[in-house]
Amino acid sequence: MSETVIKIGIVGLGKIARDQHIPALLADSRYELMAVASKHGGAAFDVPAFRSLGDMISRSPEMQAVSFCTPPQGRHLLARQALEAGLHVMLEKPPGTTISEVDDLVAVAQTKGLTLFASWHSRCAPAVERARLWLANRSIQRVVVRWKEDVRVWHPGQQWIWQPGGLGVFDPGINALSVITRILPRTVFVTEASLSYPANRDTPIAAKLTLSDSSGMMVDAEFDFRQTGEQTWDVIVDTDAGQLKLRHGGSTMQINELPVDLAPRAEYPSLYRRFAELVRDGRSDVDLVAFRLVADAFLLGRREIVEPFSES
Ligand code: NAP
Repeated sequence: MSETVIKIGIVGLGKIARDQHIPALLADSRYELMAVASKHGGAAFDVPAFRSLGDMISRSPEMQAVSFCTPPQGRHLLARQALEAGLHVMLEKPPGTTISEVDDLVAVAQTKGLTLFASWHSRCAPAVERARLWLANRSIQRVVVRWKEDVRVWHPGQQWIWQPGGLGVFDPGINALSVITRILPRTVFVTEASLSYPANRDTPIAAKLTLSDSSGMMVDAEFDFRQTGEQTWDVIVDTDAGQLKLRHGGSTMQINELPVDLAPRAEYPSLYRRFAELVRDGRSDVDLVAFRLVADAFLLGRREIVEPFSES
């Protein structure tokens, strides 16, 4: 029997909406993309376009769900507005600017009997579930995270990243934290943090974290937006059975330097499959563990001021 089609709208029509969300939705028979809304009202993919969420909702009475691809700042009020209008909500990562505002959305969704899905696309990378299963029965000795990319290449013009709530280098770095909190068998917590802020910006351009777990295992994590040349999105786990490497953001995996064959898995189609299941089953999925680690890094972090950042 075919599944019910979910009539959905997208809010925020920037890089990730155009590159991933809209193509994933258009290719998925579980969805009908009804409309998009962004501040400048830009059109995309022959779908009706609006300048605000309010306009989109009032002009699309059949809409059942909204996926938010806006920057984290301001998303809470928008998502609350959608929930209050009776729509299921999917949030891009990070799910907001603070943990408490996401808790508020959880409460509204619960009261209204709606689905709220805080998505973590990196957890859907092809190697992540294989890594989790491989690590489940291993004794883990040490984890190294190196998440280093060139902000000028990957985030051109995205001023929101540098503004309060934009997370700076943790905007991509939270992806690494979403992966390690999925694959490691025990809860990890931040024990040390040092955050490097450009003199002219409100969010860090680089960060070093140390995390631990109840066994005393150590995670050494470095995040840097100043990386030129080769870009690095790696997680390396030393265990009693050798070394596991997740490279390229979890799209490849090696055990003791030997490549592991992985089933193809596309991140955004997987997220939308999950969202459809949650809506069908009347459930929510809001896992804030990676977001809490970032918040803890800000709580605990020693702050150093580094040279001003300019885009050019
Ligand atoms: P972006 O390129 O700056 O796009 C953000 C979009 O949101 C813009 O189209 C902007 O509209 C729109 N917007 C802002 N406020 C709005 C409002 N009040 N109502 C409607 N639209 C609004 O950002 P992005 O890179 O797509 O990132 C968005 C989110 O996706 C972030 O949370 C990011 O962490 C996440 N993400 C990004 C990537 C990536 O590779 N870029 C990957 C994974 C996840 P205007 O253009 O009209 O101002």
